[in-house]
Amino acid sequence: MVFDLLIVGGGVNGCAIARDAAGRGLSVLLLEQKDLAAATSSASTKLIHGGLRYLERYEFRLVHEALAERELLLAAAPHIIHPLQFILPHEGSIRPAWLVRLGLFLYDHLARRKRIPGSATVALAGTPFGAPLTADHRLGFSYYDCRVDDSRLVVLEALDAFARGAQIRIGALLVGARRAGGRWLASVAAADGKLEDISARALINASGPWVSETLEHRLGLRSRKHVRLVKGSHIVTRKLYEGAQAYMLQRPDKRIIFAIPFEEDFTLVGTTDIPFPGEPGPVAIDAAETDYLLAATNHFFKEKIAPGDVAWSYSGLRPLYDDGALEASVVTRDYAFDLDNADGGAPALSIFGGKITTARRLAEHALDTLAPFFPHMRAAWTAGAVLPGGDIGPGGFDGFVAELSRAKPFLAPRLVRRLAGAYGTRAWRFLETARSLADLGVDLGCGLTEAELDYLRAQEWARTAEDVLWRRSKLGLRFDAAQTERLTRALAQRSA
Ligand SMILES: Cc1cc2nc3c(=O)[nH]c(=O)nc-3n(C[C@H](O)[C@H](O)[C@H](O)COP(=O)(O)OP(=O)(O)OC[C@H]3O[C@@H](n4cnc5c(N)ncnc54)[C@H](O)[C@@H]3O)c2cc1C
Repeated sequence: MVFDLLIVGGGVNGCAIARDAAGRGLSVLLLEQKDLAAATSSASTKLIHGGLRYLERYEFRLVHEALAERELLLAAAPHIIHPLQFILPHEGSIRPAWLVRLGLFLYDHLARRKRIPGSATVALAGTPFGAPLTADHRLGFSYYDCRVDDSRLVVLEALDAFARGAQIRIGALLVGARRAGGRWLASVAAADGKLEDISARALINASGPWVSETLEHRLGLRSRKHVRLVKGSHIVTRKLYEGAQAYMLQRPDKRIIFAIPFEEDFTLVGTTDIPFPGEPGPVAIDAAETDYLLAATNHFFKEKIAPGDVAWSYSGLRPLYDDGALEASVVTRDYAFDLDNADGGAPALSIFGGKITTARRLAEHALDTLAPFFPHMRAAWTAGAVLPGGDIGPGGFDGFVAELSRAKPFLAPRLVRRLAGAYGTRAWRFLETARSLADLGVDLGCGLTEAELDYLRAQEWARTAEDVLWRRSKLGLRFDAAQTERLTRALAQRSA
């Protein structure tokens, strides 16, 4: 078979493009060398945001697009995306109040808002917003963005792509590809090392941090565009404060750090911006980054923390489009494409940069760029479409949680919230026929039942304990070594 599109990379961009393309009638094969969202797309700050701080760098195009996407994505996936209020304590020596107010005014008005509230000035002294903070923060600003489960968003895009006919291959590495007879002829290695030849009319290089490597070493192409890798790390600590609000904390180096309520019992703190000159690959937080993040939280919060309070940390490489900026923290967060169809040959489109927030729109732009090669391709369609599980009804997330609780009264309230938040209406796929907890099989730990595990394996491409604990869920925060061992055994039995 000759595919219309061969997509390299199962991160947010590759999966968003696969979904859009399959819905436009193209035949699609997506290759991911490890797991969906295995690289940068599971290591973000997990915000669907306009990027308030990008206004200081005059990135109006990006901020406008991202602000508009917040509304669309919130409607498309209200189970995994939720509005989040941010409190920005005023630090007059870093940014004057008029500048912050101007930025927030633009933020409120750059794109149409329907569901997301606007900004306000708020008192911190003597209020719940100020209660967790040290005494010298009396005035602040409030604005809204959204939080998202980043790796689950990628899975939802892949699920929708699959439902519309795309093939999704996990553990499949693009070894190399060359043009032959007006097509791309690609060599693909499966997890067991077996090689297969694949033929496609066009190739999309959505390999994130590997975009330049794929271009030059696997496709043998030259590009004037380059990727700039910037490492960013987060720490997850025990809960630093009560309340559902997040904080945007300004640092003397003009950077900002977020503190965000995470997985009910934790606080997520990040991020850093460290130039990364090496080859792309797995990255981890270093002691200097941990100290930097701890110093920020200890400056702002009454609750003091030390390295021993860090329950988890994760790092990722931002695959930024290199715009020649001197400082890592000011390199553009916007995206750029490189289209290569030398001598009228089969096209290769490489994606540089992009955000979790803008992936849907990036996909539209990518396919519009390829439209001349696919005259029968249907029009863009994702703007009003719901992502899998997102059809939770007019009662919104709380209404759906109540519906699930009523239908399955044997599920503990915490478990209902987790399942509703992870799967939305797709939770019925493994809950529908259950009349008691026992019907869901053995609890492998922290409410992860055999029924849920079987669903993850059969329908969400989960293969390893890491896939289940850190990308399909965040149960890794709660699992102990014995439970992880038990899960690993359960997976091994199932794949035997
Ligand atoms: C610290 C940090 C915080 C961030 N916070 C936010 C945020 O809050 N909000 C937001 O909107 N954005 C955020 N971002 C940006 C966002 O996470 C990234 O822009 C986005 O995830 C990039 O997605 P991608 O699909 O391009 O790359 P990736 O997610 O890295 O996907 C590329 C995939 O390609 C695969 N691959 C590579 N080579 C091959 C090959 N030869 N064969 C097969 N597969 C291959 C890799 O395994 C990988 O899974 C953040 C980024 C970082 C690092």
